[in-house]
Amino acid sequence: MSSLAINISGLTHRYPAKKGSEERKALDGVSLQIPERELFGVLGPNGGGKSTLFKILSTLITPTEGSVKIFGEDVISHPSRVRSLIGVVFQSPALDKKLTVEENLIAQGYLYGQSGHSLRENVKAGLERMGLWDRRKEFAEKLSGGLKRRVEIAKALLHSPRLLILDEPTTGLDPGMRRELWDYLKELQNKSGMTLVVTTHLMEEADGCERIALLDKGKIVSLGAPQELRKELGGNVISIKSADPERLKTEIEAAFKAGASLADGEIRIEKEMGPDFLAQVMGKFSSQIHSITIGKPTLEDLFLRKTGRRISDPEHSHA
Ligand code: ADP
Ligand code: MG
Repeated sequence: MSSLAINISGLTHRYPAKKGSEERKALDGVSLQIPERELFGVLGPNGGGKSTLFKILSTLITPTEGSVKIFGEDVISHPSRVRSLIGVVFQSPALDKKLTVEENLIAQGYLYGQSGHSLRENVKAGLERMGLWDRRKEFAEKLSGGLKRRVEIAKALLHSPRLLILDEPTTGLDPGMRRELWDYLKELQNKSGMTLVVTTHLMEEADGCERIALLDKGKIVSLGAPQELRKELGGNVISIKSADPERLKTEIEAAFKAGASLADGEIRIEKEMGPDFLAQVMGKFSSQIHSITIGKPTLEDLFLRKTGRRISDPEHSHA
């Protein structure tokens, strides 16, 4: 049996009340085990509690209640032992802009008590691993967003942690860079056998993880392999665009006794159905339908089913 990289039980975190805002329960009774070598994703909307969980794992904040162990070490009683076991990539960039790529890594090495020949070797290996060797003399501020992220990852790996945690690492990257970064992360996990925990609010990214937790309002509402979770939903999902989606939704529900939901101005119907259902809807309401599509359920559908909202819903964005 492989050992646990992360063992969280009954984790609750409250931020104290401030002027004009009430006390906030950012995490609410989270329990979660992540085995060593897993690529684990934490998917959730803005304000779901991802960064709070991340800050607790990285020993930046002390949780209100519950226990968190990383490779058996307790984050509260032994934070420095935990820090030596983990590499951390924060949501906001943490590079020294006026230093070169290589200098950024060397500075990090000093922080971890490395020096001399072994540090140089270590930096070289790290740069090569993240495809940065040719870029080592460039100033951090001149790099593209995707390259900056890779430098941050190389930095976080310099002390050879067994667990790498990344908080929304692809924020601000274009789709091409996002994919490239994910390729690096997967290669890292494959080659080094590291455990990776990545937070994201993007379903496509969560789909690439071995297992995910769906975190909403501080609670895990779903946990498992993305394919399994989607399979649980079963059936198909029909999406319909219309000039008056509210009205059409009501009419479809009445006509077909099917539950429908409205998300981002689109009507969505989850149903075990044959192709004839689509034809029937089309036949009856064609004048009101701009477009109609049918597809397998996505993680967005799962989230919708569990919470009644969309992950990307601006209503629960606190950004
Ligand atoms: P996510 O990273 O998923 O967007 P966060 O962990 O940042 O979520 O936030 C979870 C909840 O905690 C939100 O309601 C947020 O407003 C609140 N929160 C986060 N940081 C603080 C803080 N420093 N003080 C008070 N409330 C906070
Ligand atoms: Mg966050």
